[in-house]
Amino acid sequence: MVNSLNRDTKLLSIYETLFAHYGNLHWWPAKTPYEVIVGAVLTQNTTWSNVEKAIANFGEDLSPETVANADLIELAEIIRPSGFFNQKANYLKAVTTWFAKYDYDVPAVRSEPLEKVRGELLSTKGIGLETADAILLYAFDLPTFVVDAYTIRLCGRYPIDTGKDYATVKAYFEGNLPQSTEFYNIFHALIVMNAKARCRKKPLCEGCPLGERCKKKGNYCR
Ligand code: SF4
Repeated sequence: MVNSLNRDTKLLSIYETLFAHYGNLHWWPAKTPYEVIVGAVLTQNTTWSNVEKAIANFGEDLSPETVANADLIELAEIIRPSGFFNQKANYLKAVTTWFAKYDYDVPAVRSEPLEKVRGELLSTKGIGLETADAILLYAFDLPTFVVDAYTIRLCGRYPIDTGKDYATVKAYFEGNLPQSTEFYNIFHALIVMNAKARCRKKPLCEGCPLGERCKKKGNYCR
């Protein structure tokens, strides 16, 4: 943990600039914590619009009980639009079995130590680091920073010397930001938004709110 007096202020500056530009994006776009869990699994290796189609196929019936009781083939058919549907049907079953240990009760999960729950999720089939942290942060409001390829790309370009592996980047963000669920929630959403709008593989630096301070601004645009 970095002493607050020694914090790298670049991250806060990025947060403030992105927040001023995009505002609070009110993530995660889901009606219930369980829908967040399902979305976090289904979004692996596909676009969000495909996830929305898969979730819409549940109709008004997206609940842990529905997934727990569904036949695996039937479940795979429901989530087909998200791709890798046979694999993801198994993953949904696995994460739902984990949630059943808490009687599908969100406060029961929240009352456990974060690292314990994180360890359980990481031991669950199909749940990697990013998915686990997305579930913890957005379904259970637990303060863990979500790192994704967009975060690593932004840090590499800006640049911020966070390292590149998941644990190092996460530790850097958590060590240099206030430990706050709301803050982590908003910041991750802002990074994703800017990566999609501007800091793409081939970036659109003109109009990027971070352009004033980003050292890579324009290097990709000439
Ligand atoms: S200025 Fe360009 S490289 Fe820098 S963050 Fe914005 S889009 Fe990415």
